[in-house]
Amino acid sequence: MSNQNYRHETIALHAGQVPDPTTLSRAVPVYRTTAFNFKNAEHAANLFALKEFGNIYARLMNPTNDVLEQRIAQLEGGAASLSLSSGTAAIFFTITNILKQGDELVSANNLYGGTFTQFESILPQYGITAKFTAVNDFAAVEAAINGKTRAIYIETIGNPVLEFADIEGYSRIAKKHHLPLIVDATFTPPTLLRPIEHGANIVIHSLSKWIGGHGTGIGGIVTDAGNFDWSDPKFSLYNEPDGGYHGLRFAHDLGSLNHLAFILRLRTVGLRNVGPTLAPDAAWIFIQGVETLPLRIRKHSENALIVAEFLQKHPAVAWVRYPGLKTDPAYPLAGKYLKNGFGGVVVFGVKGGSAEAVKIINNITLFSHLANVGDAKSLILHPSSTSHSQMSDEAQRAAGLHPELLRLSVGLEHIDDIIEALDAALKLTV
Ligand SMILES: *Cc1c(COP(=O)(O)O)cnc(C)c1O
Repeated sequence: MSNQNYRHETIALHAGQVPDPTTLSRAVPVYRTTAFNFKNAEHAANLFALKEFGNIYARLMNPTNDVLEQRIAQLEGGAASLSLSSGTAAIFFTITNILKQGDELVSANNLYGGTFTQFESILPQYGITAKFTAVNDFAAVEAAINGKTRAIYIETIGNPVLEFADIEGYSRIAKKHHLPLIVDATFTPPTLLRPIEHGANIVIHSLSKWIGGHGTGIGGIVTDAGNFDWSDPKFSLYNEPDGGYHGLRFAHDLGSLNHLAFILRLRTVGLRNVGPTLAPDAAWIFIQGVETLPLRIRKHSENALIVAEFLQKHPAVAWVRYPGLKTDPAYPLAGKYLKNGFGGVVVFGVKGGSAEAVKIINNITLFSHLANVGDAKSLILHPSSTSHSQMSDEAQRAAGLHPELLRLSVGLEHIDDIIEALDAALKLTV
């Protein structure tokens, strides 16, 4: 794509692809191959020494994935992206691409359930400690940072209470302590928000949600803003010679690509030596999703706002949280950061508590009862007994997760059908 000023809708359809010169295929081909031919011995040697970039082996790179990566990087306004086998893998390999044994992470506490468990239970197995602080409690973040801290981690719209993170506030603290700010922006795809413009250094998405958009695959993607200086000796993975790469020091020895040290290390160490690769078939599914992302996100947001306003007035509903409601505590920040809509997730509390919430789950029509968000179809979940049941009661309360909370991922069905299904289920509780 020659014109770097294309708008989101155009980037979503074209970025990263040059029609295949051999077949002239208009759609992005799926390159189902394990390895790629070398042109000659010198070409092979240069590729292995990182003197030249090109395809080697499909654990590390694939031309189908490359289109997805370039397209997301452009949508995010980032320098480069890397796709991985799941959002969860994208998070784990991002953390372990920066932190090692003895290092600490300061994280918001309102995380996706799986991420919370990863940080609380899995990272300690690698000697990495996560310190949790309430979202936007900057005094607590400052207090949690010490000489061992190596990154700050937030989600744009937290799970499951939909608090909005003040990205610029976190970025100020991150800059002050020279720490990378990592943002999981899954709930706010790039047509709503580009965290890099607000100071994020690394942006993560689960592709499985709105970017894929149809509940048809698992994948994750990491985008590097290319604006963090890794040459600070405290980032030892970037400053000490890498035994797995001819003694390469990632922050120093990549020449004109030093600014891409993070994402190049993620590929050449994370993917190459540990192997959480996204299959090209899945990458193709996500490219299809990206093509209609701007359109879908607008409609998801439109439907979700109508649902939130409907629930707010419903006699069976105790409370509603949606960042797009002008009365919502998250609105001042969401209104500042979000463009084109407020996303597809609405949470609400049913009068009568957990038992009534479960009654709705068991009786609602149209909505699929499952643990996912971002499908084109409407979804419903009771997080406290499912996705967040790993958290202690105390941790649930600290994260604002109430037992009567139901989470809706509002789909693309006709809005009248969505409202009628909700109304009929809510009537059973009053
Ligand atoms: C789903 C999700 C993840 C995990 O992604 P997977 O692709 O399911 O591994 C991480 N963060 C958020 C906010 C999510 O919604």
